[in-house]
Amino acid sequence: MMKALALFSGGLDSVLTAKLILEQGLEVLAVNFITPFSASDNEERVKQIAADLGIELRTIALGDEYIEIVKSPKYGYGKNLNPCLDCRILMFRQAKKFLRGEVSFIITGEVLGQRPMSQHKNAFRLIEKESGLEGLILRPLSAKLLPLTVPEKEGWVDREKLLNIQGRSRRMQIELTSKWGISNYFSPSGGCLLTDPIFSQRMRDLLRYQDTSLNNINLLKIGRHFRLSPRTKLIVGRDEKENNLLTDLVKKDNICFEPLEVKGPIGIGQGNFDDSLINLAVQIIARYCDEKEKAIEISWKLPNEEVEKIKAMAMSEKKIEEFRI
Ligand code: SF4
Repeated sequence: MMKALALFSGGLDSVLTAKLILEQGLEVLAVNFITPFSASDNEERVKQIAADLGIELRTIALGDEYIEIVKSPKYGYGKNLNPCLDCRILMFRQAKKFLRGEVSFIITGEVLGQRPMSQHKNAFRLIEKESGLEGLILRPLSAKLLPLTVPEKEGWVDREKLLNIQGRSRRMQIELTSKWGISNYFSPSGGCLLTDPIFSQRMRDLLRYQDTSLNNINLLKIGRHFRLSPRTKLIVGRDEKENNLLTDLVKKDNICFEPLEVKGPIGIGQGNFDDSLINLAVQIIARYCDEKEKAIEISWKLPNEEVEKIKAMAMSEKKIEEFRI
């Protein structure tokens, strides 16, 4: 039996794509790509969504190679720091490896005209050319609006049973979920942090001033971030869960700030702090403590384990904004 490889995010379109091909009596193997910018709580759910469809799921983690395209994408960024064209090319190049014996072609839930950067005819052509997959990528949701592909020409799939969905409306997709009784899928908003304006701002700051280690990227997902100088950054937890996460991610050469006697956030200082930068950091931390009217004692642990203390008044909201990333 012919087998297709589905690029599978667990989103509405990828679920319906796999289902459409299963309905034609073909086998489907799903592959889910995890990038350093994927929403961290999606993995288990994707497995469950694939299991609900009765298809095997493989997971591929993209690391340094992915960070390199975010730093300098050949085809540029979308609205935020999302390098969608380069990202898709990289994923398809990875998917191509499955064609060596495991599957005969690739399917994806891309819909013509749904996303401005990567889902129009020229983008589809470019992605196919750059990944060396011309004719081997079938987009079942929009297939009737696109050129014939190898699986259609060869009769592995029946083009007549494929769809002609176009644009951003999900009306037809929702109708199909009702028809097939599908309820487990991610909402279309997606799980890529690079499309988030606030995260993108933090990532731009990281690219400009710091190294793009995985630890530094993971820190961007937590807390409030403040650029105190080109060489110093402060990250402040927003709740107990984030305080614990920050404590786990603190590195030996970071400074760890903690309020004494009142409830308040943990702060992680990255870079070289002199006295004036320590003063800025403790004022920001004091702003997020429960007590805002009085000076608060805040300790900081230096990389050499030495602990020092200082009293600080909360910084004004207006001044804080000068440092917020
Ligand atoms: S939204 Fe993110 S994961 Fe999706 S194509 Fe764009 S960069 Fe890649």
